[in-house]
Order: sequence, then structure tokens, then C-alpha cells
Amino acid sequence: MQKIKCPKCGSKNMRIMGQATLVAPASMYGAFSKSNLRKKEVYLQGVNWETFDFICMNPKCCNTTNAYGNYVSKLEKENKELKERLKAAPKNTAYNKRLPD
Ligand SMILES: [Zn+2]
Repeated sequence: MQKIKCPKCGSKNMRIMGQATLVAPASMYGAFSKSNLRKKEVYLQGVNWETFDFICMNPKCCNTTNAYGNYVSKLEKENKELKERLKAAPKNTAYNKRLPD
């Protein structure tokens, strides 16, 4: 197990929050009440670990690390860098021919 201590205040009172994939009958779309979530035809398929936040529950701290925002902005930054590299590449290469404007 990792990140059980808050990197800011050292508190061990940490929570995690992230995205999970549920499978359920289509008729339950928009209707995930507590009682619907307990039905046997609703189950957890998996979790997206890279989206999980580690949240410090110390009310004076509330530090959040490994946030979903970090994951998304990292991908966005990499995408932007790759597009800039492709634009800087010599013209008439196979890469540039496939680039949309
Ligand atoms: Zn903390």
C-alpha cells in the first residue's frame, strides 16, 4: 500500500476517491439510488486507479494529491508537445500528411 500518510501534514487519516466502472441494466440509467446499487444485477467491473485522489481528512489540511486533474493535464501537455513536434518536423513527411489542420 502506498500514500497512506499525507505528504503535507503527515496525517494517516486519508481517503481515496476515483472513477469506477459499474455494470447495470440499461433501465437503471440515471437512477443509481442506494437501493438500486444494492441489486444483484448491478456490479463493479473495475476501477481506474490513475484517476484516484488521495485526500487528507485533517480538517486543517485537506491536501489532495495524485488528482484526476493531474492525470488529465499530463495527457493534455503531452498531446500539445507532440503536436508542436509534428508541426516543427520537415514538411511533406508521412507524419505531417496525416496531421489535421
Ligand atoms: Zn494533510
